[in-house]
Amino acid sequence: MKQTFSIALATIVASMLMTGQSSYANPSISKAEPAQTQSSSGDVDPLVSRQQLYDQLSDVTGIPWYRLAAVDQYERTLSKARPKARPQLGSFVGIYIDEEQWAGALNPDSSDNVPASIQWFNGIGRDGDGDGFANRSSDFDLLYSVATRLLQHGGSTEDDFSIGLWEYYHNSRAVQRIQQFSSLYATFGRLNLFDHAFPVPVGTNYSYKSTWGNARGWGGRRTHEGTDIFANYGIPVRSTCFGVVEVKGWNPYGGWRIGIRDLNNYYHYYAHLSGFDKTIGIGTIVKPGQTIGWVGSSGYGKPGTQGKFPPHLHYGVYRDRGLIEWAFDPYPLLRRWEQDERRRLRAN
Ligand SMILES: [Zn+2]
Repeated sequence: MKQTFSIALATIVASMLMTGQSSYANPSISKAEPAQTQSSSGDVDPLVSRQQLYDQLSDVTGIPWYRLAAVDQYERTLSKARPKARPQLGSFVGIYIDEEQWAGALNPDSSDNVPASIQWFNGIGRDGDGDGFANRSSDFDLLYSVATRLLQHGGSTEDDFSIGLWEYYHNSRAVQRIQQFSSLYATFGRLNLFDHAFPVPVGTNYSYKSTWGNARGWGGRRTHEGTDIFANYGIPVRSTCFGVVEVKGWNPYGGWRIGIRDLNNYYHYYAHLSGFDKTIGIGTIVKPGQTIGWVGSSGYGKPGTQGKFPPHLHYGVYRDRGLIEWAFDPYPLLRRWEQDERRRLRAN
């Protein structure tokens, strides 16, 4: 069985090498942000290479491509947040597995790449591409090894997959993120989901400036983690990204607020709304520019409190670093998205 697996994979790899990237034609992929499309070799879009890898591994393992993509993307966001602790191992996958996990904790050879001895020491490392070695720098071997681990805990249904994720990460946030990423990929059917929009319609009356870290007026000594966009009641508040609604409801500080998770593992926070769009619930998939609610002045008290300050949207962005979330200043992003949208409006 294992032998046929390896032979099948070797054939797949060979056919991938022969057909290059032309076998996968997704027109949307070329629209990725420059940061997402730059590769060390210069001309091959890593999103195309990734999609090919997910498709091939999906054929072999029975795990749908969007779940493999979600695991890989989740790991990539962890590596981006902590690049020193998680150096890039392959050329385009984001999976990080340290030597000890790869070779097995009791393996005297921590850089072991022989599949049989790695398996003997219960290491994660597997030979996915059929070259006879479990190579920690092979994209194929890395993702195949994780997929194999995930499959140890059952079949390829969504529930089995979630149990596999829990057994692999022992971290409920990791499981939640991967499920969110997976539903984003499954909904849109592509990897390139990094477009953005300004949170209120460009062309309406609003004003904002950089207020990062200013002291704030209510609830004690907390610094202001975000940007306030002042606008009238009823101006639409729109998602800035492709994402999944993670939080919706009342919070004493934020009033009626919504939290949206994107594929960079950023949490976008929209506060003081006057109400929510009817289509929005926890788990709803949104795209950039989609209305999620309206500008208001809710917050600073019991549910329903409003009017304690002028109407505005408080917009914050938090980055998940695996265990904690850090706020960062959204002002430069807002400026860029606003300019991009002005340019698009002029072009139409
Ligand atoms: Zn604010």
